[in-house]
Amino acid sequence: MRRTLRSADDLVAAGLVSSGQRADVKAVADRYAVAITPAVADLIDPTDPDDPIARQFVPSPMELTRTQEERDDPIADQVHSPVPGIVHRYPDRVLLKAVHACPVYCRFCFRREMVGPGGDSLDDAALNTAVGYIADRPDIWEVILTGGDPLILSPRRLSALLERLDTIDHVAVVRLHTRVPVVDPRRVTAEMIGALSVSSKTIWTALHVNHSRELTADALAAIGRFADAGLPLVSQTVLLKGINDDALVLADLFRALVKARVKPYYLHQGDLAPGTSHFRTTIAEGQRLMRALRGAVSGLCQPTYVVDPPDGSGKRPIGPCYDLGIEHSAETVTRDR
Ligand SMILES: *Cc1c(COP(=O)(O)O)cnc(C)c1O
Ligand code: SF4
Repeated sequence: MRRTLRSADDLVAAGLVSSGQRADVKAVADRYAVAITPAVADLIDPTDPDDPIARQFVPSPMELTRTQEERDDPIADQVHSPVPGIVHRYPDRVLLKAVHACPVYCRFCFRREMVGPGGDSLDDAALNTAVGYIADRPDIWEVILTGGDPLILSPRRLSALLERLDTIDHVAVVRLHTRVPVVDPRRVTAEMIGALSVSSKTIWTALHVNHSRELTADALAAIGRFADAGLPLVSQTVLLKGINDDALVLADLFRALVKARVKPYYLHQGDLAPGTSHFRTTIAEGQRLMRALRGAVSGLCQPTYVVDPPDGSGKRPIGPCYDLGIEHSAETVTRDR
């Protein structure tokens, strides 16, 4: 079986980086984790300098430019982390970061200082403490498994984790934030779907996908295995300059997702992660794109455009604000921000 590419040398050997760029790419790889799965490597067109898949995963020397507003913890997770592996920003839901590794490393990752092959899973003691934190707080209704990517776990380890959450009565929903069905669809085996299906909790999957080209036949088949098993899916997309900051590209993506039984959930403004300024659009640009989608494309295809501000106050919808401008009621419509 082909391997995941993890170094500048691997990328040169695979023809994704020229030998002249090897040293530059190595400097980036020394700083931030690199991984490109065979499924993603196959999608890259090495002759296209603006290939939207390559730009998401192949390191660029621009990542070594850090701007003043960028920070290691761009959405202030750490101040909301009472015990290792838990982020508790909202009363009714927590993040549980059981693993720190991902099948691929996105160049714009908002947790790039936290994720990587070196950062292993929570050890047993830390996991006990994290699960105990959830068990002790009846207000926690939903547990969001993220990381890292929880579906990098073997079905056996995933089952063991879900079994522990099963014992906590006040948890109703477990949500998985993952890129696996798209970037490593062969991991979505019958065993994995089985592990998710036996949980007594309602399992939602939030799929991270940024371009319709990521939705290959294999990816669609993997997504279909969730939907066929009755496991509902939503999507998250990061707005990325030169990759999907185009109304037609976004419309294609959201339509392809709805067709695949995935409801577009969030379009994220790029976070202030270090070395990612070349990926960020302005918020005004994001609002222009959302305006272009509204009306032109099915309402099912409309995600909520959100920003996660660096002060840690939590996600805020920042879609365009529409004044009524029509005779509808006697209400006065005011802006809430
Ligand atoms: C994004 C996030 C969530 C999930 O928020 P939803 O709006 O429910 O999708 C939960 N906890 C933290 C800390 C988050 O950053
Ligand atoms: S999959 Fe998510 S956590 Fe992992 S590198 Fe990409 S953005 Fe970061």
